[in-house]
Amino acid sequence: MKLFEYSRAADAREALERFRPGTMYLGGGTNLVDLMRLGVARPDSLVDVTRLPYDTIDTDDGGGLRIGAAVRNSDLAAHPAVRERYPMLARAVLSGASGQVRNMATTAGNLLQRTRCPYFQDVSRPCNKRRPASGCPAIPGDHENLAIFGHSEHCVATHPSDMAVALAALGAQVHVTGPAGDRVVPIPGLHRLPGAAPERDTVLVPGELITAVVLPPPPPGRSHYRKVRERASFAFALVSVAAVLDVDEASGTVRDCRLALGGVAHAPWRAERAEAALRGAPATEEEFIRAAEAELAEARPLPRNAYKVPLARNLIVRTLQELVR
Ligand SMILES: Cc1cc2nc3c(=O)[nH]c(=O)nc-3n(C[C@H](O)[C@H](O)[C@H](O)COP(=O)(O)OP(=O)(O)OC[C@H]3O[C@@H](n4cnc5c(N)ncnc54)[C@H](O)[C@@H]3O)c2cc1C
Ligand code: SF4
Repeated sequence: MKLFEYSRAADAREALERFRPGTMYLGGGTNLVDLMRLGVARPDSLVDVTRLPYDTIDTDDGGGLRIGAAVRNSDLAAHPAVRERYPMLARAVLSGASGQVRNMATTAGNLLQRTRCPYFQDVSRPCNKRRPASGCPAIPGDHENLAIFGHSEHCVATHPSDMAVALAALGAQVHVTGPAGDRVVPIPGLHRLPGAAPERDTVLVPGELITAVVLPPPPPGRSHYRKVRERASFAFALVSVAAVLDVDEASGTVRDCRLALGGVAHAPWRAERAEAALRGAPATEEEFIRAAEAELAEARPLPRNAYKVPLARNLIVRTLQELVR
């Protein structure tokens, strides 16, 4: 591993002052340190941001919830307000990694974790995301677990975070501070599609520090997070779905619906075509199938990941069925 400097910042001002080219912020280190060991990440210095005063979960003025960037994944999933008001988020977080990893991993680090594409993690292979303009061996090679939506000729990677998928369905906002001041970035919107610049995962610019994630009040209706993976733990999503469904009981029609998919794109994928198809429609299996197919009509699977299209369709339909049961 390359030698690097390590320091701890006490507050955001100190973290920003210490940031220079070659610096990376360090959360729980559960992704970044792995990538440093593999030689994928080679920072000159790490600024540890886990001691910043962003480790609480508080009710927001607007009736939502403000989750500090340094809140550990385990604490987030166990927090009473999250479990009672945003159970889909708790479920998404608990579906990821292991208890030990979640005890270390932070909210900001989870959102900014990098793709699990096997070529990205193997420095002996080319990879446009790791080394721009070197090529994408996943397109002709191993892409079984990679994207079916929004990919480009330069990269077909997926974003691995489960938490981000639930946050996309909930319409969360990410609060950021940086050299140019403070700003708020919505999810979806934080993570980019690869286009011609797959080396950039998000819209953040160098030095920007995530300080919090703010959830709006929970949307009406019932919600659920389901994840299909190769084994029951320690596995990333092949496909996942975060769903919120609000059904008018008198008429049996859908008042509102939010659907986000994981494991299918370079960013959490908000299924807006399916949502539009469902609003005002009867909450029946036929309509759920129609809505899922409307979304998946836009999928562009590769030869070895076409299985994700029926998998996503069935997962959407089954999840919605569970929500009306
Ligand atoms: C075996 C294993 C299985 C896993 N399975 C899953 C899974 O199924 N689902 C899932 O979602 N995740 C999974 N994970 C990933 C895990 O959730 C992430 O490693 C973790 O959330 C990253 O958080 P961290 O705080 O450790 O981030 P770090 O590794 O410290 O940092 C990650 C990135 O975030 C940046 N960063 C950290 N904090 C800030 C900040 N405040 N502002 C700006 N940048 C910041 C860092 O510079 C770095 O680029 C798994 C991990 C392991 C090791
Ligand atoms: S899919 Fe993206 S991350 Fe994977 S090899 Fe291609 S460029 Fe690299």
